[in-house]
Amino acid sequence: MTNYKICLIEGDGIGHEVVPAAREVLEALGLDLEFTEAHAGYETFLDVGTSVPGATIEAIEAADATLFGAATSPSEKVPGFFGAIRYLRRKFDLFANVRPAKSRPVPGGVDGVDLVLVRENTEGLYVEVERRYGDTAIADAVITKRASSRIGKYALDIARKRRGELAVVHKANVLPVTQGLFLSTVMEEAAQVPQVRAYDVIVDAMAMHLVRSPQRFDVIVATNLFGDILSDLTAGLTGGLGLAPSGNIGEKHAIFESVHGSAPDIAGQGIANPTATILSAAMMLDHLGEPEAAARIQRAVDELLREGSVTRDLGGALDTRGYTDALVRRVSRS
Ligand code: ATP
Ligand code: MG
Repeated sequence: MTNYKICLIEGDGIGHEVVPAAREVLEALGLDLEFTEAHAGYETFLDVGTSVPGATIEAIEAADATLFGAATSPSEKVPGFFGAIRYLRRKFDLFANVRPAKSRPVPGGVDGVDLVLVRENTEGLYVEVERRYGDTAIADAVITKRASSRIGKYALDIARKRRGELAVVHKANVLPVTQGLFLSTVMEEAAQVPQVRAYDVIVDAMAMHLVRSPQRFDVIVATNLFGDILSDLTAGLTGGLGLAPSGNIGEKHAIFESVHGSAPDIAGQGIANPTATILSAAMMLDHLGEPEAAARIQRAVDELLREGSVTRDLGGALDTRGYTDALVRRVSRS
């Protein structure tokens, strides 16, 4: 049995509840998993003066993969504070943000959706270079051939292993220089992968298609900001924040986390829904080369959802403890 070293970072708020829940589910699989724990986020900043201590960097480096809970970003500007996950994405060059959206049996969810949104994670408008001249404010959007080609290849690889379709989202009609470079570079990569049919979709049209007929999409690739916005839309289609997992993938390291934040309004009450973090743990297992174990978690989650054995945010009666116990029982039996 392969030994995997997993770094767990609870972070802030409900991270302290959902990461331990995910750990219990992982432990129920009977794999050879070795856990280390590290700290990051706003509480860590208040404790030790930095959101990401050196020991955390070392722990992520030493691990095969990392599972991250959530980090709070204070709404006021705090001197010396920086967002932990944005910092880690840059530090480890986690260039692909992968967000699968799959219909699950929950009330209000749209049926038949099974897509993967791949968001470029390192550049675009998120280089955070802004300036102000009097009453004019300017933000830079950086697009490089290197990052576009890398994310294009990554998305093509996912599409090749799935239904062989890649929608390339852009706004090259209005921004032919930056968005045009992204589009043409991804299309050049696509020309090397004949098994995948790549086609372009303008981002505003994509927003409409995703609302009206999301079932037609397989893999979608987009620049940073468009990917950020569209992935919240696809999370909304398939059951909401409590269920949406994600992975930040680099050449050497990968950090998996739920799409939701630290939910300070419900933190500490024992009622958080750990499913998004648990499904992120399943993505992590898939990434590590354990697709069977990942599928066992997914199946157990779907069974509980179908039965309505769920937490309150999904209309159920269970708290985090009760839901995790039910999931652990299913996973150990499967
Ligand atoms: P942050 O600044 O960390 O993003 P936030 O206030 O934006 O925090 P989110 O975590 O993004 O909060 O959540 C938005 C809303 O969804 C909150 O009302 C929160 O309680 C709810 N929510 C988010 N995640 C969960 C979850 N796992 N279980 C139950 N409710 C959740
Ligand atoms: Mg939020």
